[in-house]
Amino acid sequence: RAKDGGRSRSEYYKPEMDAEREERLHLEIDLRIAIERRELMVVYQPVVSAADGRIVGVEALARWNRKGHGPVSPDVFIPIAETSGLIDQLGLFVLHRACETLKRWPSLKLSVNVSPGQFRDPAFPQNVASVLRKTEARSADITLEMTEGYFIQNADRAKTSMAELRRLGVHIALDDFGAGFSSVGYLRQFGFDRMKIDKSLIHALDHERSAVDMLHATVALARSLDIPVTAEGVETDAQALQLRLTGCDQLQGYLFGQPMTADDIDGLFQRDERRAIFSLA
Ligand code: C2E
Ligand code: MG
Ligand code: MG
Ligand code: MG
Repeated sequence: RAKDGGRSRSEYYKPEMDAEREERLHLEIDLRIAIERRELMVVYQPVVSAADGRIVGVEALARWNRKGHGPVSPDVFIPIAETSGLIDQLGLFVLHRACETLKRWPSLKLSVNVSPGQFRDPAFPQNVASVLRKTEARSADITLEMTEGYFIQNADRAKTSMAELRRLGVHIALDDFGAGFSSVGYLRQFGFDRMKIDKSLIHALDHERSAVDMLHATVALARSLDIPVTAEGVETDAQALQLRLTGCDQLQGYLFGQPMTADDIDGLFQRDERRAIFSLA
């Protein structure tokens, strides 16, 4: 192929590109149908206290089992939902389902992810308010997780939405901190209620010398702003120990539990006399 000129090369790639585009279109069509039929599922991953291993909350995560194909990763279908105008409907479905389910767990807090596309919609705070009203959910126990991109690009709009959401009583967490171009400036001006350190930094603890220093710097930054820190993607005892020593107050990851059904979360409580305590190294 190397000796082909640029022109024949692009011709060579064209059918592949079409196949890709077609597959994407089919994904979008199937996703639309799945959302309309309410076939998406919501799973819950435990969040534990770094002090004693007790489960303190859950993060709701969307799951899609595509008919005839099997599970599709949220990293694939969330971006599709974003670009095809389905994200509002999808996001509200997840929020509604999760808020309803939260009633089963009086002692737990709930986190739900919000995409930039949802947050961009001026009606988003009203939509959240309506879900809270319908489900009679405990708004003070609910945190909406967002990534930084939107805040950087639309500072004023974001501030207005955040203020409206806060008035409803919900909290707002900054998700995936350390994965992008995180800057100190916007951390200060938005006053997030919690920071979640991206799993890439946690995993780097195992093999990159500088990762420990970066972790310390990140937690120190959060502390200087009075923002509590959750570490996500915790997979090993060594990571958990390091994170506890550094001052993260909450841990989340496969070490404690994969995202699971609501019934499986109930099972955790039954396991240890309704206390659901994970052992910490
Ligand atoms: P996220 O919000 O940062 O969620 C954490 C992701 O890390 C989840 O991936 C979770 O399964 C995974 N994870 C948790 N513990 C570990 C671990 O110990 N090791 C590893 N390797 N991974 C771990 P998931 O469920 O595939 O979701 C990926 C992303 O898709 C989420 O990242 C979130 O940004 C987005 N997403 C998922 N559900 C929703 C939703 O309902 N709405 C929106 N807007 N986005 C969602
Ligand atoms: Mg999240
Ligand atoms: Mg995250
Ligand atoms: Mg993420």
